[in-house]
Amino acid sequence: MRLVRGENGWWCIGRSATALLPDRLVENGDLTAEGREQLNAMGIDVVQAPDHYSLTVVTSTGCNLGCSYCFQNTPDGRRRIAPARLDARTVARCVEFTEKKMAELGVRRLELLLFGGEPLLNPAGCLQVLRAFGARMPVTASMISNGVLLTPRTAARLHEAGLGHLQVTLDGERDRHDRTRVTRGGRPTFDLILANVASAQRHTGLRFTVRVNVTPDVLPHLGTLLDQAAAVLDVPGTNLAIAPVLDYGAGVPAPDARAAEQAVQACARAAELGFRLVRPRDDHCDFCSEADGRLGAVVAPDGTLFSCWDAVGENDLAVGELDSGYSNESRARWRRCGGELPRTQAFSDALDAGVLDVIRARKEVTRP
Ligand code: SF4
Repeated sequence: MRLVRGENGWWCIGRSATALLPDRLVENGDLTAEGREQLNAMGIDVVQAPDHYSLTVVTSTGCNLGCSYCFQNTPDGRRRIAPARLDARTVARCVEFTEKKMAELGVRRLELLLFGGEPLLNPAGCLQVLRAFGARMPVTASMISNGVLLTPRTAARLHEAGLGHLQVTLDGERDRHDRTRVTRGGRPTFDLILANVASAQRHTGLRFTVRVNVTPDVLPHLGTLLDQAAAVLDVPGTNLAIAPVLDYGAGVPAPDARAAEQAVQACARAAELGFRLVRPRDDHCDFCSEADGRLGAVVAPDGTLFSCWDAVGENDLAVGELDSGYSNESRARWRRCGGELPRTQAFSDALDAGVLDVIRARKEVTRP
């Protein structure tokens, strides 16, 4: 559960719901006994019995872009992950592993995420995963992609195979984005990403979330970014989320609570334009909150298991593999996502509280 200070009280973000509490129920950033009692009565932080298993499959560790802050594919070679692609044999191993874990958990529905690197560097692998699972169980399927390779034909085939949702990322308005999020050959990507998303929105039923990565120098220009995106995208069909860039050693400055004011203003403007704001979440993660993949697993292209997305490809953080399951060292190697969170916590808390204030004002709550 998280407590974040909003305009009219404290937002309590729990596992099952979010509530706004009056100031008197929070002291020194913690719930009073009465506050705790009220939250329990409202069932805000109730952990429901799982109704799905979560699986992230990395279809390609390589990427066609070279974002300077990337923890997976840094242009200077720091912590670069060896290129690897998922093949049909590993897809079959994924299905076998996942069916076993789902039987243990007692669930029938799968929440599947296709991830990279850039997953669309291996479109055949993405289609194989979607079709293999879709043929055997109810699946809710998403992808995190940079969007550059999302041609109209690829979007249509992915949607036909069962993909429902894609998240793409912008690194600021056109000029700033095109300084950071460039191809390996240095070509800009802003207009191409938006054109690909807009085309997929027109021709398929795919849903989209645009995540805007922010650093302090991007924040004053978010209004321009929103206007540029709104000119191209199906705005009411697009979720919008603002997030800080985590520093994986690239020297990216962290935005602070003051910077969050600019981000919240941008969220208010985005809501006015008709974008749907993504509802802030508590800090539970199906992949890494519990050990040994009880609620979810992250699988690399060669079938190695990792505890979270951040760890993929780092061999000393491998926690098992598909055929034999989690290893004896898995708990010692377990890493939780958001390892850089303390650096950006003040910003994220203030931003999330502001987003909830905006959503409350507009009576609009959207899940990604
Ligand atoms: S698009 Fe994603 S995976 Fe590729 S370099 Fe940029 S941040 Fe890294």
